[in-house]
Amino acid sequence: MKILYVFAHPEERSLNGSLREVAFAELRAQGHEILVSDLYAMGWKSQVDRQDFPQWPADKRLLVPAASKAGFASAALTADVEAEIAKLRAADGIILHFPLWWFSMPAILKGWVDRVFAYGYGYGVGEHSDARWGDRYGEGMFQDKRAMLVVTAGGWAPHYSARGINGPIDDLLFPIQHGVLFYPGAQVLPPYVLYQADRIDEARFASEAERLRARMRGFLTEAPIPYRRQNGGDYSIPGCELQPWLGGPDASGFALHSADASPVAARLSAVAG
Ligand code: FAD
Repeated sequence: MKILYVFAHPEERSLNGSLREVAFAELRAQGHEILVSDLYAMGWKSQVDRQDFPQWPADKRLLVPAASKAGFASAALTADVEAEIAKLRAADGIILHFPLWWFSMPAILKGWVDRVFAYGYGYGVGEHSDARWGDRYGEGMFQDKRAMLVVTAGGWAPHYSARGINGPIDDLLFPIQHGVLFYPGAQVLPPYVLYQADRIDEARFASEAERLRARMRGFLTEAPIPYRRQNGGDYSIPGCELQPWLGGPDASGFALHSADASPVAARLSAVAG
């Protein structure tokens, strides 16, 4: 399997850098080929701007989706973006590895997504009509790919629990896991999250490294998060609202979009019972 490993930390000798080497060694031991995008080392440009669309007329008001669509369709995006698209096309798996910064990914990684997931590739795929709202959320260009986040966070695990002050980690990562990865169709594995990352000694590093190795060993076989597919009957079209019989009319929140969300499952079994 070819795995695109996108790494977003400015320091090779960081904790994240060490964990990356652990992951690489285990993935290679499993026979996977790794394609690397080390964003800081590459000097990745993170902002979308007019320079990204060389074919777009200089005097024309820039319309980013239209420029992205035209550039992607004619393979005329900038060389750095075209190279990342080529890696993504070749990859069967994607790993995004980053420290949690302000409850999200570092700007350089967001900028990689903004620039590389072009119109016609990351979004704007498939038929859009009253019967179908595109190939997205479970369908799309990534639908045969597995994906996973590797994340370190300074906060403690309970701070990210269901009642933790930071909000549940699954909610914080939802825009990346569901929005960035499942949207173009990837099967998203549960994340590897290392908490209290700023205080880690050799013993904990060793146990965390082992936990990461185990996750890398399971990359091919582990069950993905059972996010509901947009075109699988759980949503109205074109409104794209969860069907009223799923979770009950008053239920809301990100967890509803996963088929095994325990509050939803509990409500469903209550209804069924
Ligand atoms: P490093 O600083 O490189 O290392 C951390 C520790 O690991 C050090 O004690 C180091 O000695 C040890 N270590 C490194 N390598 C090894 C090794 N090979 N063996 C043993 N020990 C090792 N946290 C949150 O929870 N939520 C946030 O929203 C958040 N926002 C942030 C925003 C910014 C701008 C910044 C800078 C930090 C933020 N943090 C936040 C904290 C951040 O998530 C952590 O600082 C980060 O995850 C630590 O990873 P690192 O690779 O940078 O660690």
